[in-house]
This record gives sequence, structure tokens and C-alpha cells, in this order.
Amino acid sequence: MGCACLMIKEALFYEVKDDGGVVCLLCPHNCVIREGKRGGCGVRENRGGKLFTLVYGSVSSMAVDPIEKKPLFHFYPGSSIFSISTVGCNLHCQNCQNWHISQASVEGGFTRDFSPEEIVRRVEGSGSKFIAYTYNEPFIWYEFVFDVARLAHQKGIMNVLVTNGYVTEKPLRNIAPYIDAANVDVKSMRDEFYKKICKAPSVKPVLDAVLVMKEEDIHVELTYLVIPTLNDSEEEIREFARWVKENVGTDTPVHFSRFFPHYKLSDLPPTPPSTVAKAWTLAKEEGLHYVYMGNMPGEGEDTYCPSCGERVIKRYGFTVSKCNLKNGKCPRCNEKIAIVGECKETRW
Ligand code: SF4
Ligand code: SF4
Ligand SMILES: [Zn+2]
Repeated sequence: MGCACLMIKEALFYEVKDDGGVVCLLCPHNCVIREGKRGGCGVRENRGGKLFTLVYGSVSSMAVDPIEKKPLFHFYPGSSIFSISTVGCNLHCQNCQNWHISQASVEGGFTRDFSPEEIVRRVEGSGSKFIAYTYNEPFIWYEFVFDVARLAHQKGIMNVLVTNGYVTEKPLRNIAPYIDAANVDVKSMRDEFYKKICKAPSVKPVLDAVLVMKEEDIHVELTYLVIPTLNDSEEEIREFARWVKENVGTDTPVHFSRFFPHYKLSDLPPTPPSTVAKAWTLAKEEGLHYVYMGNMPGEGEDTYCPSCGERVIKRYGFTVSKCNLKNGKCPRCNEKIAIVGECKETRW
């Protein structure tokens, strides 16, 4: 892809220190950045005592995906979603599937430059009514995501974040009015996991961000990637499911996803399907209504009425093969199904 020039813009959330350093307030790392240096995400730099984003408008990938691929199963099922990303990430997960962009340098030549207007025009041209900020971490692209999301809303286009949730409260609340849905990765319930695998001290900021999103009326779905030996114990899965039930609600869709070896965790085996199925069963036992299995096409993808068990959406992979809802309700027992927007069967 094209130009490796940097798209520079002053950052929105930072503090100036007396010694010419700055503190970035965008994510809980709160990097202290000296003159000429960059923060841990690699895309924010102190220039002359001011903090700048180096990736405003720098787009590394652009694609139209099924919304189920995000994954979002309860938000306009069967829709297509225009998806964009930049480079960099504030976490450094050893299993990152998109490490070639998330851990890339801004000078790596992976990006092409776009204005918010150009992005929104392309979304309109694609016929999609949705934009996903995805593949790498959207919050480190904050200033551009904010401008695109605001413009998109003016044009009747909805915005979706696919995020690690590692963001501080103020920026999150600031962008929340323009965000319609999010899929948040809860990678583990253990700080040790975040320390060892993601190079972040704690899971707490992620859980806090999920609560803020709920308060801000963002439709939230959660993804838990089940990795053999690292986060797959019954105790931890139950703890996660209970936390969801007690804090986010039993109607929250939860996706247990199958791990495949990637990047620095390529020595681990893929997660046995039976382990993902066990996580599914445990979460159902804990009382969650909408639990799914990911990366296992043909299994654990359908939506069932939590009251009578009727299958209300049938899926295969990222396609919706049957919508069996009546005005958003179960056709058999009339229970309201927690789906935002209409369900459309995927057309080929
Ligand atoms: S967004 Fe980047 S620079 Fe800012 S605190 Fe997080 S890792 Fe550091
Ligand atoms: S948060 Fe996501 S994009 Fe960032 S390093 Fe981890 S897996 Fe990769
Ligand atoms: Zn029913």
C-alpha cells in the first residue's frame, strides 16, 4: 500500500509536565513520554512538549465484512459492515492474530491516508450502514475514529468498536454518544494473564470500560478467547460468567472463541473443541442467556429463546441462514429476544 508519510494531529487527552514531558491520558498505561519519544502503542509522540497522534487518517486495512465476523450476533444480524484499521496497539498480546499490523511501526509503509469524509463516502458507496473500527486497537486511533464516527452519525451510519477495552473513562465517555455497539475482548479474569500475555498490569480497566459502555447505552457483546492452560479453568470461566451476569446482565451475548496458535504463542496446541463447549455449558449453567462458540463453524452459533428454547436465529460461520423472530420476539412463546435492529438472512 501507498504513502508512508505520517498523518499527524495533536492528541486530545494528555497533560504537560514541567520538564517538557507529557503524560498520555488515553489509556490506563498513562505513558510518561519525553521529548522526541513515543508511547507504548508506538503511535503517539511528544514533539516540542505536545503530544501528537502519528496515525490520524492512516488506514492499514479496509474491507466489507459480515457483522457476525466482528463478532456481533445481536446487532442487526445478517448485515454487512465496512471495516477499517490502522497500525499499533496499546497491548502486546503474545497470541495476536493481527500482529503484522498491531505491532507494526508507523513508518512500516502499511497504511494509506484518508480523510473522515473519504471514509464515510466509501461506506456510503459500499451500501453498508455500519463502520467497524477493528483489526488493531481502535482507541489508540482515537482522534480519527472520533471524527469519522461523528460524521458517520450525521449521515445515518452506525459505529462499532471491536476493542480490547483498555481505555480510560474520560475518552470513552467522550466518544460514547457516537458509538452504537462494541465487542470487547475480556482476555482473562486474572491480572497475571494480562501481565504475562498482554503486557498490561490488570484486567480491571477492561471490566470498568465494559460497565461504562453499558451506562452509556452502547450495545455490548463480549469475546473470551479460550487458550489451553492459560485461561481455560472451570473456576475462571465461571468467574467470568458470574461477573457478566451480575454486572452487565444475563442478556449480554458472550462469545467463547477457539484459540489457534499465532505469533509468540505458536507452541501451544489449538484449543480442543470440547474445552470451548465446556465453557459454553458453564456460562449457561451460570445463567447467561446468549452464549456462543467462535472459530468453530457449525457449532454453538445459533440463538435460542431463553424462555422456551426455540431456535430464533440459525447461523453457519458468519452467515445468517434463518431468522425466526416475530417483531423481535420468539414466535413460539412471545418472549422478547435481546436483539438490536432487524434480522436479515444473508444473501449470496
Ligand atoms: S494510548 Fe499509547 S501513549 Fe497513550 S497511554 Fe496508552 S500506550 Fe501510552
Ligand atoms: S489487543 Fe488485540 S490487536 Fe492488540 S495486541 Fe492484543 S490481540 Fe493484538
Ligand atoms: Zn420462546
